[in-house]
Amino acid sequence: MVGKADLHLHTTFSDGALSPNDLIHRVHKAGLTTVAVTDHDNTGAIDESRAAALSLGIEVISGVELSTVVGEQDIHILGYFFDHHDAALQDHLALFREERRKRAERIVEKLNRLQVPLTLESVLEQAGMGSVGRPHIANALMEEGLTGTYHEAFYKYLGFGKPAYEKKYLVTPQDAFRLIADAGGLSFLAHPAHAVDESLLRKLIEAGIDGIEVVHPSHTQERVAHYNGIVSEYYLLASGGSDFHGGRSNDREVLGRYFISTDTVTMMRRRLQ
Ligand code: AMP
Ligand code: ZN
Ligand code: FE
Ligand code: FE
Repeated sequence: MVGKADLHLHTTFSDGALSPNDLIHRVHKAGLTTVAVTDHDNTGAIDESRAAALSLGIEVISGVELSTVVGEQDIHILGYFFDHHDAALQDHLALFREERRKRAERIVEKLNRLQVPLTLESVLEQAGMGSVGRPHIANALMEEGLTGTYHEAFYKYLGFGKPAYEKKYLVTPQDAFRLIADAGGLSFLAHPAHAVDESLLRKLIEAGIDGIEVVHPSHTQERVAHYNGIVSEYYLLASGGSDFHGGRSNDREVLGRYFISTDTVTMMRRRLQ
């Protein structure tokens, strides 16, 4: 039977609001049968998700979302089907998380210099045991009454080019492809409509990306058709999902609405053989 697959989900292991267990119960209610939990630089949710999914008949594919940089642009790469116990992969993820923590510290220092009295402790409290990111800093700013809204935090301080912006640790898309491939997985370009123009997309294809995230809440129907065309033209794989983080305003209706067919997931598996 063909089912619905959502291969882009976040938990408390990065900037999602739900634990892996709670997330799996939510995706079950939404009618999904195959999922990948794709936390930023973190695979800690996979085992707990699988345990929760077992009795519900849901399949959990290993996943991760890596942040890479090309010039000034953030390019997100989704990895699937890798061995999440691979030692080299875990060493790199631990390094990326440590660099995220250092970056959060630099952002807090910049904010303090701007007379915004945020503490690193309040940011790390938001992140819990998950990979720390700007969404946690935005939440801490709101919690402390230092900004009115989540978006205001990005607009005033944290967004690209704003006074408290700090660069990410430099990982290239090619570095990410290699890490994922060496751990036995496939790499996909996440939500290409965010930052990727046609010439960069073609460079990433030449550099060895396995597929493109075609279905994403930020993609119009025209974009979906466009990316499906590129997937066919270059014999790539298609992926898709909701990028659900739980609890955020833009997340309301995405679960169960942005999905791909489990037949598409079968095509990914064939590519691995
Ligand atoms: P980080 O991984 O720390 O660079 O944080 C990236 C995340 O911050 C993205 O996945 C978005 O969820 C969020 N984000 C980045 N820029 C903005 C923005 N201008 N407005 C709202 N959220 C943003
Ligand atoms: Zn996220
Ligand atoms: Fe992303
Ligand atoms: Fe994401």
